Amino acid sequence: MPDIIQLLPDSIANQIAAGEVVQRPASAVKELIENSLDAGATSIKLIVKEAGKALIQVIDNGLGMSETDARMSLERHATSKIRTTDDLFRLRTMGFRGEALASIAAVSQFELKTRQANQELGTQILVEASEVKNQGPVACDKGTSISVKNLFYNIPARRNFLKANPVEMRHIIEEFQRLALAHPHVAFALYHSDDLIYDLTPSKLSQRIVSLFGKSFQGQLAACQEETALVKVTGYIGRPESARKTRGEQFIFVNQRYIRNNYLNHAVTTAFQGLLVENSFPFYVLFIEIDPKHVDVNVHPTKTEIKFDDERAVYAVVRAAVKLALGTHNLAPAIDFHSDINIVNKLSQNISNEQYFNEQFTSSLGRSNLQNWEKLFEDTPPDSKLFQKTEPANTLRFESSLNRQEEEKQETGAVFQFQNKYFVRAAKSGLMIIDQQAAHERVLFEKYANRLKSGGGNSQQSLFPQTISLSPVDFALVMEIESELISLGFRFEVFGKNTLLVSGVPVGCGSNEKELFEGLIEQFKRNQSELELPIRDNLAMAFARRTSVKTGQKLALEEIQSIVEGLFACSKPNFSPDGRPTFFTFETSKIESYFTR
Ligand code: ADP
Ligand code: MG
Repeated sequence: MPDIIQLLPDSIANQIAAGEVVQRPASAVKELIENSLDAGATSIKLIVKEAGKALIQVIDNGLGMSETDARMSLERHATSKIRTTDDLFRLRTMGFRGEALASIAAVSQFELKTRQANQELGTQILVEASEVKNQGPVACDKGTSISVKNLFYNIPARRNFLKANPVEMRHIIEEFQRLALAHPHVAFALYHSDDLIYDLTPSKLSQRIVSLFGKSFQGQLAACQEETALVKVTGYIGRPESARKTRGEQFIFVNQRYIRNNYLNHAVTTAFQGLLVENSFPFYVLFIEIDPKHVDVNVHPTKTEIKFDDERAVYAVVRAAVKLALGTHNLAPAIDFHSDINIVNKLSQNISNEQYFNEQFTSSLGRSNLQNWEKLFEDTPPDSKLFQKTEPANTLRFESSLNRQEEEKQETGAVFQFQNKYFVRAAKSGLMIIDQQAAHERVLFEKYANRLKSGGGNSQQSLFPQTISLSPVDFALVMEIESELISLGFRFEVFGKNTLLVSGVPVGCGSNEKELFEGLIEQFKRNQSELELPIRDNLAMAFARRTSVKTGQKLALEEIQSIVEGLFACSKPNFSPDGRPTFFTFETSKIESYFTR
């Protein structure tokens, strides 16, 4: 038998690697800007055309490369950043795998121009799909400029898989914001086609936040600072009362690298406990500095996940930092951040006391969950916003709807609300128990889905149109789903940069345009990250969730009846749009079995 195993040609190996490293234009943006930062650039300009599909260009004033290095930089596993395995455990640079440029050049028409300060002439290299087309000296500025044209032009399947321009642009802006936040001392500019989207001068972090997210952040930020032997946490949090209805502006960086970490996110949220209105999300930008040897960044090539060797210690310090900031700035009443401080002190004294630690955690986590639960009910507004007419105390109806004459009149149809959560209703086959929120979500979902299909959502004109400032990311999202929002019944126009003027909302959805709109976008985004749904389904589902009655809400009889009727007129009454059961029937035979001897 002949031997059949061969090494893959570089161009194919690079293309395979590109599948991991370059998922979309935004990933190329990230890799290129990170390289510029690693090269010590103090000014970085990003130019994109057609949301990066036609062009992504990054121009920096960093160290540049020699002629040989320029050529080497395009080889796979070629890097100037690590030499030994030990280096892996003291990483200070953003890159280290040495595969970004090779991967990007494998799936685009790639142009590199670079010059070191001490050279007269720079080097230019043109590559198409890993093949060097041209290389030679060129007159250029000090630093490096890389242009990536027609990303995935040689892999039509990948190219076709790219999302519409607003979506890809949103990803690019997100990536850009993270990098710009992590490096406030570096000047950044972003051009989309010929529009200057951001022009950021070197500044302090607080100023950078304001230039990125808008003037409304001025005076809303509280500085955070906490340090132990293990970690240092710095950054800013937003005032609790300026928390938004949309998540989004929440950032955690570890050694200047943006990371996603639900556990640390929970640490921050817990510190805000009791200070936020329900369903609002505080702003925060937190920097964690920790010796790289305690961190493993190697988990995934896109590197937004991270592993700490002692995650709980980091949790405690983050929470303490946020609580302290809230306390120091008088944003919170005297809160018990002492327990956290004790933990922090213990950590800084390097006392490892596992039991002490465990107790602190379980008790505080357990307690906070309970508080949340209670709060849900305390805060519940007495009346449903959705209906104009309300009725007083529920217990009256409880009796009247079950009183004898009514019951005799109609065997089915009598209905009452139970514990502000369920409707109980006599049905032919037994006792039906309906989950009020799941049921209402189903009713509204079908209504909104129909509107989106027929496109005829009636709008209720606002007396005073309201302006809403959105983050660039959310703004791009709204543009992406504009026609669907109009079908639902929203009316709005673009009113300056990242700002909308909302002049109408769907009929019957209350009058707080701003809250409705922001809440909808937030829910939409949450669905988007959790479920892969077509836009219309997602939107109908998000809007149903936002506008439905909630568990814990006291309802008037007419409201209850209208939801019950609506539910059984639905095409799929058994489940809420996200698959929770809406009702179940306690069969008569089952009931009887309890009473037979
Ligand atoms: P990595 O960043 O993981 O080392 P890359 O493929 O991104 O791998 O880059 C390869 C090498 O090219 C880098 O190690 C660096 O030496 C060089 N390089 C890339 N971009 C730049 C730049 N903008 N300025 C200077 N050198 C660069
Ligand atoms: Mg790199």
